[in-house]
This record gives sequence, C-alpha cells and structure tokens, in this order.
Amino acid sequence: MRAGRCNADVRLLPVTKTHGPWAVEYSYKYGLPAVGENRVQEAVEKRALCGGLAIRWELIGTLQSNKARLAVAHFSRIQSVDRVKLVGVLQRQCEEQGREKLPVLLQVNAGNDPAKHGADPADADALLEAALSAPRLEVQGLMTIAPLDADPGATRRTFATLHEIRNRLESAFSVRLPELSMGMSGDMETAIEEGSTLVRVGSALFGERA
Ligand SMILES: *Cc1c(COP(=O)(O)O)cnc(C)c1O
Repeated sequence: MRAGRCNADVRLLPVTKTHGPWAVEYSYKYGLPAVGENRVQEAVEKRALCGGLAIRWELIGTLQSNKARLAVAHFSRIQSVDRVKLVGVLQRQCEEQGREKLPVLLQVNAGNDPAKHGADPADADALLEAALSAPRLEVQGLMTIAPLDADPGATRRTFATLHEIRNRLESAFSVRLPELSMGMSGDMETAIEEGSTLVRVGSALFGERA
C-alpha cells in the first residue's frame, strides 16, 4: 500500500529467460498464470520441455519479423510490438494460422533509451493506429523498459512518461489501454508508484542470469 495502491491492481510476470523449465514449473506451482521470455527460440524449446503445462507464455523481447510465425504459434501475448511493419506481419500470421485474436502491448521507448528498445514516443500514435486497424490484434496497453543504468529520477520519469502517453492515446483514439507493463527487479517499486499494472521480474525471483 506504500504507493497508495491496492495489491490487486498490480500483477507479477515471472521472467524465466535463461533459466530452465524448473522456473516455469515453479511459477505454475505458485499459481502464476503466465511467464515472460525474451527470445522466441529459447521459449519454444523450453515450452516443449514443460510438456503441456497450463501456463501462458508472453514475449517480452524484440521480435524479428522472421520469427513472427513461431511467436504467433507459441505466445499468448506479445508485449514487444514496436513498429508498424511488425503489426502487418503479425496480422498476416494470425490469418495464416487461424488465430482469431492475438493480445499485444505496444512497446514504447518512453525513456529515450539510446539502446532504442521500443517505438519512439513520437511514433506511438501511428503504431497504435496501425494496430487498431489490424482486426486480429487486440491492443491491451503499453510496455516499456527503463534505460539501463539510468539514475532514479530518469527511471521514474520513464514510467511517468509511459503513463502519460497511455492517457493521451486513450483520449485521442477513444480506446482503453488498461495494461501498463513496466518495472523489473531493480525498479519495480518506482514503476508501481507510477502506475504499473504488471511488473516483469526475473533475477529477484530466480537469481542472477547465467
Ligand atoms: C530480462 C527482462 C526482465 C526481467 O529483468 P530482471 O532485472 O531480471 O528482473 C524484464 N523485462 C524484460 C523486457 C526483460 O528482457
């Protein structure tokens, strides 16, 4: 309650990348509905090793167009939709695979990270417009990653900016974008204070990555 928010508003996405199937099984055992992975190939292999475990898989890493077919086949939701071209590729893959709905988040580079993870904030409107015109894509909200090594003020500004972009897009397009996926092991408290609905946590749960 420190941020004046009730626990039910914020959910946890355990990030199992670089960890074996045990991390997915652990998440399942504790009742978590989904896990996050940042590489398509790694997730597909891990998923096979997990048998038919009833857990959802979410893609949180950059998606190359040539991996879109696999991504649509294996992921419940894609959080890393960052360019108009990818919207078209995903729409086409949904049609080819007979997938009626693909929930997505639009990834925005709200902290102007020079590493350029996500769409430039100035391109967010065009990206949302494209995604809303793709009938098989269901835009549920936005995602961001704070710049690595940012000072605490810059991290907070990144999250506040994503929140503002979300509010602005909701009014401009008359749509609801309820999901704000922001915050990782090192900055989740700040993200929650700035309105995160989903924190993506890896190392704080499963230990440092190999
Ligand atoms: C790895 C990763 C995380 C989790 O990072 P931790 O610092 O281990 O909690 C969250 N989001 C994305 C996009 C990631 O790639």
